[in-house]
Amino acid sequence: MRLLLVEDHVPLADELLAGLSRQGYAVDWLADGRDAVHQGATEPYDLIILDLGLPGKPGLEVLQAWRAAGLATPVLILTARSSWAERIEGLKAGADDYLCKPFHPQELHLRVQALLRRAHGLANQPQLQASGLELDEGRQSVSRAGKVVELTAAEFRLLRYFMLHPGQLLSKSHLTEHLYDGETERDSNVLEVLVNRLRRKLGSEVIETRRGQGYRFSEQPE
Ligand code: CA
Repeated sequence: MRLLLVEDHVPLADELLAGLSRQGYAVDWLADGRDAVHQGATEPYDLIILDLGLPGKPGLEVLQAWRAAGLATPVLILTARSSWAERIEGLKAGADDYLCKPFHPQELHLRVQALLRRAHGLANQPQLQASGLELDEGRQSVSRAGKVVELTAAEFRLLRYFMLHPGQLLSKSHLTEHLYDGETERDSNVLEVLVNRLRRKLGSEVIETRRGQGYRFSEQPE
């Protein structure tokens, strides 16, 4: 999943980037509200974390601009003040959730996880389930019929994306846009290798190849 973090306080941004990256998210970072208006609306983000106190343009106006343009991406706002008025303004402007600073990193990770599942029509259960598999996002492992299968970080990122989109045809370019941040070079050969490794670990039937179109993660257990 690819996230945009808009936060001008550099030490906090560094900490959040490191934590989110450990959780298997590809994250682009911006510090200026004007840049965020453009980039948030043009890059295919799965979720946006937006500080409200920003240079360039206030976070509230950034959010209003995105929603006015029809952007439906889930937005989690960060507010520096424990002011209920600011939280209410943010929610009225189209925020999906909020966190008041300071917060524990785990609270952010769990809210991000819940928002992503909700955005895909899934309830936020302890484990993400699809096609007979249960994904443990905390341990970054998957289990089938009670048997735990260990995953590398890259395998986990790809499997989580598939499990949030069961039954959907996903092109290679779509997958690479959502698995890598804007700085990483995208290589569809790497994607093929990862798909093959997941098939070897989980069974070839879990991921179907559609020639020239992409991949489809099985909706039902075989
Ligand atoms: Ca700020």
